[in-house]
Amino acid sequence: MNATEIFEIESRHTSGLYGKQPIIFVRGQGASLWDINEVEYLDCASGHGVANLGHAHPRVARALAEQSTKLITLFETFYNDQRAALMQIMGTLVPGLERVFFCNSGTESVEAAIKFARISTGRPAIIAAMRAFHGRTYGSLSATYNKKYREGFEPLLPGFSHVPLNNIEALEKAITAETAAFLVEVVQGEGGVYVAENEYIQAARRICDERGALLIIDEVQSGFGRTGKWFAFQHSGITPDLVCCAKSLAGGVPMGAVLIAPSVKNLVPGVHGSTFGGNPLACAAAVAALTAIKDEDLLNQAAEKGAYLIHKLCAIDSPLIRDVRGLGLMVGIELKQKVQPYLKTLQDRHVLALNAGMTVIRLLPPLVITTRQIDGLVEVLREVLTVETPQAE
Ligand SMILES: *Cc1c(COP(=O)(O)O)cnc(C)c1O
Repeated sequence: MNATEIFEIESRHTSGLYGKQPIIFVRGQGASLWDINEVEYLDCASGHGVANLGHAHPRVARALAEQSTKLITLFETFYNDQRAALMQIMGTLVPGLERVFFCNSGTESVEAAIKFARISTGRPAIIAAMRAFHGRTYGSLSATYNKKYREGFEPLLPGFSHVPLNNIEALEKAITAETAAFLVEVVQGEGGVYVAENEYIQAARRICDERGALLIIDEVQSGFGRTGKWFAFQHSGITPDLVCCAKSLAGGVPMGAVLIAPSVKNLVPGVHGSTFGGNPLACAAAVAALTAIKDEDLLNQAAEKGAYLIHKLCAIDSPLIRDVRGLGLMVGIELKQKVQPYLKTLQDRHVLALNAGMTVIRLLPPLVITTRQIDGLVEVLREVLTVETPQAE
């Protein structure tokens, strides 16, 4: 198939749900992607934070190839060697979070956590944060804040409300004897790369304990090394009751999971389930991915490279930049104007980046990005944000 055919076929048959860019990517390695004309791009989007290990990691590729010849699918009513291996790794990442439920995506992990919180506490209410993004199916959409995702789909689930992030007083008022759970991202991804303060997450833990509510942390985007620790909540030293995981868990293969503390009750057969959840193929990929993150010391690398990147970004002298913030390699550059034209200019310069809301450029490079690639990224950003003037949309 040539480029013209590919554009034509996808454009004709696409659902229409995606604002598509006219580039055809056929191959990736590390933090690089190559288009059909062999042009190299630096990927600072990582598929919205999926490719923490970079693209086509050899250990993930090998695990998939080997497992696919043995056993691809197996419902979780039966035992399996790959699933056991993954449970052993995941069940020991955080002391106190030994149990795990497997599903296939981020939104499914949030749906599961909401159901677990309600069945465990017998209470209806879920509190989430303003600017939160938790997914697009009805439960997670009800917890998502931005009107852009919610409008046109009402009625959403009853029992959901939102509080401003980093406001402990508001949380004290919001969490009551009716609250099943407080659901929060430690670093808001889609919402603008806003970082919850350690004191806020610690207060959330205390208030939930006092009122008998559960604390659900959504680590779908921030998990598995992105912020310099396995999970972003570990920066504040607390242990949540439920942790939602997906995106980078299985090295790019679709997989979601919920880590579960002993405080979560009533998880008995029939309460919830997933056909593909915990299938041996995804489990084998996740074992390879998590082992590679450990062996390649990517937690420390993300912390160091993230600090280096933020330091260099702060040194860019541009009247366009309002703020630079982030944690590890989850970085936001807030501009004084809309970012879309700048993302387009970056793309023309072969750098892929994301927006987070209207005015924030979000950088989620693979944790294996090299220092040389970071230096190159900063140079392109410096030029784009200080020299060139993009045209209006
Ligand atoms: C991406 C994301 C989700 C939804 O994940 P999907 O796999 O797209 O359903 C949920 N929460 C957060 C924080 C995310 O970044």
